[in-house]
Amino acid sequence: MDSTNTRLSTRHAVYTGSFDPLSLGHFDIIRRGARMFDQLTVGIGINPGKSPLFTPQERVEMIESVVKPFPNVNVACFEGLAVTFLRSLGAGVMLRGLRTLTDIEAEFTMTLANRALGPEIETVFLMASEGCSHISSSLVKQVALLGEGLATEPLEKFVPPEVITALRAKLLLRRPVAQ
Ligand code: ADP
Repeated sequence: MDSTNTRLSTRHAVYTGSFDPLSLGHFDIIRRGARMFDQLTVGIGINPGKSPLFTPQERVEMIESVVKPFPNVNVACFEGLAVTFLRSLGAGVMLRGLRTLTDIEAEFTMTLANRALGPEIETVFLMASEGCSHISSSLVKQVALLGEGLATEPLEKFVPPEVITALRAKLLLRRPVAQ
């Protein structure tokens, strides 16, 4: 089949990423994407080579609880190529966020690769909002792991409340019991 002839909807976008965990930066892109497109799917990419903090199912549940206010947003996991996932949904737009110059370099390479694999799919970038450009999932994990007693105070600057609850549950399970 010639994939370039497949009709994909430019009104349906897929925001792909690892979301391990979802941050306020991700949430900001979802909120703005939900206004731009008729349908937005948050696509959680499963990379068997990585060992994430949250399981795919935990990430689905966490993100579903956060996107409840947006009726046109749904959440799904995928393995393999993002372009294959978009085709399976009939979605014609991949949505990504940009924070820094480093992001631009990495995203540019990724976009060219995706264009070679799926020329019928366009990638749309949203610049991070003011106050979100320093937020990353790895920063969130560092703050949660090194933070004193998983206090809400520093974490609420980086993640939605639902994610603080999930982080607490996950990290309390992992902490060694004091002798
Ligand atoms: P990946 O593992 O593919 O980098 P991430 O979950 O870290 O996935 O990010 C998914 C997308 O969201 C990427 O395009 C990334 O640049 C973007 N992103 C991540 N954090 C932010 C943020 N704070 N503000 C805006 N975009 C962001």
